[in-house]
Amino acid sequence: MCSGRKAYWGSLELHIHPNAPAVVRALAPNEPVILNRPRAAARAARFFAEKFPGKSLYAVKANPSPDLLIELWHAGITHFDTASIAEVRLVRETLGQDAVLCFMHPVKPMAAIAEAYHIHGVRTFSLDTHEELEKIVEATRDADGRAAEDLSLCVRLRVSSEYSEITLASKFGIDLADAAPLLQATRQVADCLGICFHVGSQAMTPFAYVQALERVRAAIVDAAVTVDIIDVGGGFPSIYPGMEPPPLEDYFASIHRAAESLPVSYSSELWCEPGRALSAEYSSLIVQVEKRRGNELYINEGAYGALYDAAHVGWRFPVSRVGEEDQGSGQMAEFAFYGPTCDDADFMEGPFLLPADIKAGDYIEVGMLGAYGVAMRTRFNGFGEGLVVDVIDEPMASQYLGNRRDPRHSDNVVSLR
Ligand SMILES: *Cc1c(COP(=O)(O)O)cnc(C)c1O
Repeated sequence: MCSGRKAYWGSLELHIHPNAPAVVRALAPNEPVILNRPRAAARAARFFAEKFPGKSLYAVKANPSPDLLIELWHAGITHFDTASIAEVRLVRETLGQDAVLCFMHPVKPMAAIAEAYHIHGVRTFSLDTHEELEKIVEATRDADGRAAEDLSLCVRLRVSSEYSEITLASKFGIDLADAAPLLQATRQVADCLGICFHVGSQAMTPFAYVQALERVRAAIVDAAVTVDIIDVGGGFPSIYPGMEPPPLEDYFASIHRAAESLPVSYSSELWCEPGRALSAEYSSLIVQVEKRRGNELYINEGAYGALYDAAHVGWRFPVSRVGEEDQGSGQMAEFAFYGPTCDDADFMEGPFLLPADIKAGDYIEVGMLGAYGVAMRTRFNGFGEGLVVDVIDEPMASQYLGNRRDPRHSDNVVSLR
């Protein structure tokens, strides 16, 4: 299909619908349809911009959709955590020169560092080895070979991810025992020195950050350096079936308290890098049941698309049969899904709770796919492919309503449906 035409098509105002049932009535789609909720993304962005006790960087890898980047930008997110030169270019092209880009992957090709610094104005980089520090110093020299004097360098510390649903503990970060020499060497060349970490994704308790900040304290004391930036990374949770985290205010309060008690609190800035929390509520997906076999449903999306995490890490996304969002009366049953490919790996165990009489031809809305969901799909299939529409109803769950209940099932919230 012609992607230019589709991009245009997708941005037409014509394609704003009230909700999933209206989309099904209008399109009777035989392929999956992405539903975007710009207002939910903007609400999340305002929440972080106003309530996090420091600066919030959006971690672009959770969902690099340009429409989402623009939405977050207009709602107050001015800093972006990019993990590759492709993301650096994308954010620069999408948001222009005023967006502040930070290149926070601790292992970067030299050419990527040079392009980011000299062409895209990136000044903030992360690292977790002496080799990476050397690469950054070399790649950012000017034409006369003079070292850059405007670098903000964040040393990534390895922390525990025992409180997170998706762990990243072993991949990146320098051990506390080895951190002091790297912090001291980085201090020598950096205009601003930061310490960053990542507790893993979907951290289910604020204690994850408190514990990590204790390790930051030890690193600062060991190295006896002044630190200008404390970056607590991503990991802020969203709401999924069986995963109801405490309110984000609790996370912010715990982080604030722990950071205030660090020896550098008077001189340092606090940063965070939410990906999931800023994007999860942005998108859902309408899929169609193509066949039913007992309690297994064959649907037209799967492990090689937006439901990557449902297949590969057994993530349980919320589901509802389209047209029956006010569930509760009919009998429900637990289902597993098969995706559209012939691959054995294209299986999603769930369980996904749906009406017991669901059948081939029915449509299912899969919610909370804005983070690590539809982005997987568009990345594999090329941007702009597939049907994408905007809807104005509430996401299936929200961290940002104050009531923490599904607005569709709640009697004290006026539903937009
Ligand atoms: C992936 C990532 C994030 C975002 O993580 P979430 O769990 O989506 O909030 C933030 N920082 C770094 C360094 C990352 O790799």
